[in-house]
Amino acid sequence: MPKTTLTDGSPVTPDHREIDTQTGMQKGYVVLSEDERAKGFVRPVRQSYRHMKCGGVTTMGRALAETYARQPNFYSGTFCAICRTHFPVGANGEFVWDGTDERVGI
Ligand SMILES: [Zn+2]
Repeated sequence: MPKTTLTDGSPVTPDHREIDTQTGMQKGYVVLSEDERAKGFVRPVRQSYRHMKCGGVTTMGRALAETYARQPNFYSGTFCAICRTHFPVGANGEFVWDGTDERVGI
């Protein structure tokens, strides 16, 4: 199992999935640890994706983007900043990398 942390490098907490009702985002997001991400990427590091349902683009931080680049199927869902909630990624997911037709999460 690759080592994981929260986006700021701190240990994963049991309550990280709790939703902040102000933003709709989780309290914290799990990423591959910095050491794990340093092993190299199998996809380009892309920070913005488009939600096909609303057309809105969300930009994420570097640790999350590098986790997708290192292990594209790491996440089962992601946040839409316009809808302010999470939707699935993957082959049947609702997101493409901004400016492409390439699905997020595969
Ligand atoms: Zn959306």
